[in-house]
Amino acid sequence: MPPVTRKLATGPYIGAVRTPAGVVRSARAVPDLATLDARVSGCYACPRLVAWREEVARVKRASFRDEEYWGRPVPGLGPADARIAVVGLAPAAHGGNRTGRVFTGDRSGDWIFAALWRAGLANQPTSTHIGDGLELTDVRVAASVRCAPPANAPTPEERDTCSPWLARELALLPRLRVIVVLGGFGWTALWPVLAAAGYRLPRPRPAFGHGVEVDLDGPLGRVTLLGSYHVSQQNTFTGRLTEPMLDAVLSRATALAATAG
Ligand code: SF4
Repeated sequence: MPPVTRKLATGPYIGAVRTPAGVVRSARAVPDLATLDARVSGCYACPRLVAWREEVARVKRASFRDEEYWGRPVPGLGPADARIAVVGLAPAAHGGNRTGRVFTGDRSGDWIFAALWRAGLANQPTSTHIGDGLELTDVRVAASVRCAPPANAPTPEERDTCSPWLARELALLPRLRVIVVLGGFGWTALWPVLAAAGYRLPRPRPAFGHGVEVDLDGPLGRVTLLGSYHVSQQNTFTGRLTEPMLDAVLSRATALAATAG
């Protein structure tokens, strides 16, 4: 059985945020990623998601009944000097909501971390729990919505409420060169985040697709969005997304990042 993971390794708990306006204020004032991670972990701004994440943590899945679930928002993972960001949808109820680490504890995470390892961006192909030795290099992994939603479907209002956390996270990556966006929801959610961060956005918005690339000019310089089908079981079981397809996107991301020096 993996160890219990009740503490963030990234920083102290600072205080609770309980309203959408509080998210805006708190995110704006965050000076670094460690503080951001701590503040995200103390967010209660979406009542429906707070109720769901805590209910799942209390009831648990039978196969995890001996584990203590995280049951809180799940912060991003990866170093501040990352040139690549990978942005997903939201934590899974018995994945990130259980382990407290993004994409960790379910099949989607198995896929993405194995791919990051093959791309030379992770020191091991698995991510099972905080404290398992995983280290990411040159990549920051985060979700558009930080709390596990019922049926994996946050509402547009919840997406918008959570977006200042992601906007601040991207702004705290000064070397950011590439954003790999997993799935159409993340693609749609990212546009207002980038607009708020000062990026000049094309009109109309480019449609999401696997392998789609969009160059954007912003306050940190040129950034390329790279679309990828999400690593959901629905996509990986059906073959809509294969390992070579995901590897090709990450290979392109590392090549683009290399041009940034
Ligand atoms: S989804 Fe985001 S804004 Fe809503 S409670 Fe969770 S961390 Fe806070």
